[in-house]
Amino acid sequence: MSSILNADLHCHSVVSDGTLTPEALAARAAANGVELWALTDHDEIGGQHRAAAAAREQGMKYLTGTEISVTFAGETVHIVGLGFDPDDAAMSEGLYDTRGGRGKRAQEMSEGLAKVGIQGAYEGALKFVGNPELISRTHFARFLVEAGHCRDTSEVFRKFLTEGKPGYVPHRWAALKDAVQWITAAGGLAVIAHPGRYKFTANEEYALFVEFKAHGGKAIEVVTGSHTPAEYVEYADKALEFGFAASRGSDFHSPDESHCDLGKLPWLPGKLTPVWELLEHRIQ
Ligand code: AMP
Ligand code: MN
Ligand code: MN
Ligand code: MN
Repeated sequence: MSSILNADLHCHSVVSDGTLTPEALAARAAANGVELWALTDHDEIGGQHRAAAAAREQGMKYLTGTEISVTFAGETVHIVGLGFDPDDAAMSEGLYDTRGGRGKRAQEMSEGLAKVGIQGAYEGALKFVGNPELISRTHFARFLVEAGHCRDTSEVFRKFLTEGKPGYVPHRWAALKDAVQWITAAGGLAVIAHPGRYKFTANEEYALFVEFKAHGGKAIEVVTGSHTPAEYVEYADKALEFGFAASRGSDFHSPDESHCDLGKLPWLPGKLTPVWELLEHRIQ
């Protein structure tokens, strides 16, 4: 399969912090010309059977997907899994454990926000939650916009939900090794999501790539809605340097919030090995 393929292998539904159902996402992806699609909800695979069926209905090829929250060198890193068995028990258990603690964290976020005069944020965020096991910062951001504290969700993150801000609560997610292992043991392939987004030094990023590879990780996202055009070039070079395949995905969450729509991305640079070439046997 060529690198000229409209593959969108990163997006979110109401099963995590997106605002569309898997079916509505599939319809939107197909309308935008997506040929190969994956739904990658945070720490969740509960939407996979619906997404695969909806893709089939829309005439798109499908790869199973998820985006696992990991703590590495004190930072949160996201690992996308593609092409795994959605009924794998060990992976389901690992993701269940990773989701655990989000409720308590959300209560603490709410307490932090109350201290700066924002009352009822937990209850407010809950109104935006589609999956009770997956309350995320995004749901708080939507509540704070609705309540008039900020103009948009980016402003909420900047002022309230990032490190050092009143609604930020540090959290320990899965270990890198475990996330890669859940994915690969379930027959899938692990991908570092949006590597350009982490605040790592060059040494820390190098360590992430080396350790990820040592655990069996195979690819990085190069063309993603979370990268600038300069980062497409930077991470294309790094994919070659480290021998990683490359992935492409919008990271679409919502028609009202996401600047990058499903399937509306530049092609993967032709010199890279597309992840879908390594996953042909897993495409449905
Ligand atoms: P959580 O897993 O609860 O920490 O929430 C992480 C999610 O918040 C990410 O997957 C994004 O959807 C969203 N997010 C993180 N940073 C920002 C930002 N600066 N602007 C908008 N959304 C963000
Ligand atoms: Mn998200
Ligand atoms: Mn992410
Ligand atoms: Mn994402």
